[in-house]
Amino acid sequence: MIEQQYENIRYLQFDYVRQFPELIHGVFTRQGGYSSAPYASLNTSAPPRGGGDNFDDVVRNRQLALQALDLSSTPNVTLWQIHSADVLTLTQPETWRTDWASMSYYTRPWQPEMIRQGDAIITQERGIAMALSFADCAPITFYDPVQHVAGIAHGGWRGTARGVVIATVEEMQQRYGSRPQDIYAGIAPAIGPCCYEVSQDVEDLFLGRQEFDVLPTNPRYRVRVRESATFSTIQLPEKESLRLDIQTTNRNQLLMAGLQPEHIEVMPLCTSCRTDLFFSHRKEQGRTGRFVVILALAAASDHA
Ligand SMILES: [Zn+2]
Repeated sequence: MIEQQYENIRYLQFDYVRQFPELIHGVFTRQGGYSSAPYASLNTSAPPRGGGDNFDDVVRNRQLALQALDLSSTPNVTLWQIHSADVLTLTQPETWRTDWASMSYYTRPWQPEMIRQGDAIITQERGIAMALSFADCAPITFYDPVQHVAGIAHGGWRGTARGVVIATVEEMQQRYGSRPQDIYAGIAPAIGPCCYEVSQDVEDLFLGRQEFDVLPTNPRYRVRVRESATFSTIQLPEKESLRLDIQTTNRNQLLMAGLQPEHIEVMPLCTSCRTDLFFSHRKEQGRTGRFVVILALAAASDHA
C-alpha cells in the first residue's frame, strides 16, 4: 500500500500500480476536502444518491480528487450503485454522462437512458476516469495488463452475496478476452469483522438458505458465493454477535474466479475503526459522507 499526499488530501494506492504506468488510481481518504461535519471533509456524494451534503462542496471535492491524480480535464463517469452484481462495460463514452465532477451533474436533468445503474464498471477506453463512492462497502479495483482492461466494483454485503466480483471477472473474459490469471485486483478499505455485526438473514442469503426477493443471486455463482462467505461469531457479554468479513469474502471470490493469490492485494484497514480516515455508514449511523475510488487508463498521448 502506497500513501500519497496532494495539498491536504491523503490517498492510497495499491502496490501493483507501480508496475503499470498506464494505470492511474487513488483510494481517497476523507481528509483534505471542503465539506463540514458530518461530511468532513472529502465527501463525494450528495442527494439523491446519499447523504445530505451540499452540491457545491461535493462538486469541489470531486474536482479536487481528480486534480490530485492529474485528471482534471478528463471526462469522468460514475454508476448509480444499487448493490447488484450488474457489470457495465464502457465502450462508447459519447453515450455516457461524463460530468461526475461538474455542477451539471446536479443541475442538468437526467435522461433515463443516461442513468447507469450497476455496481461494477469495466473499460478499455483510455482517458476516462471512473469514480465510485463508498462508506463501509468494499471497493475492488481490477486491471488486466495484457488486454488493457481496467475496472472498479462495489462490494457491500448485498453485492458480495450476489457475486459482483465473480461477475466482473466473467465480463472481462467475455467482453475483452481477459484471462483470469492475468488480472490484478485490489481490495480497498471496508468495514472489518471487528465491527461488522450482521443479522442471521445476511448469512442465510450468502449460504443460499434464503434468496433475495429482487435481483436473486445468479445460480451459476451460488456455490462460489456460499463457499467464499467468511463469517465468525464473537461472544459479547450480552449475546453472540455474528460478523461478516467482507474483504476476505471478496478475496475468496476472486480466487474462485481464477485470479492468482499474488495478484490480489488487500488494504488492511477497517473503515469503522478508522473514521479519522474513512467514512463509515455503520459507525456514524448513516450521518456521514462517501469516500471515492478513482481509476483511469492514461490517455494515449500520455503513454506512448
Ligand atoms: Zn473495525
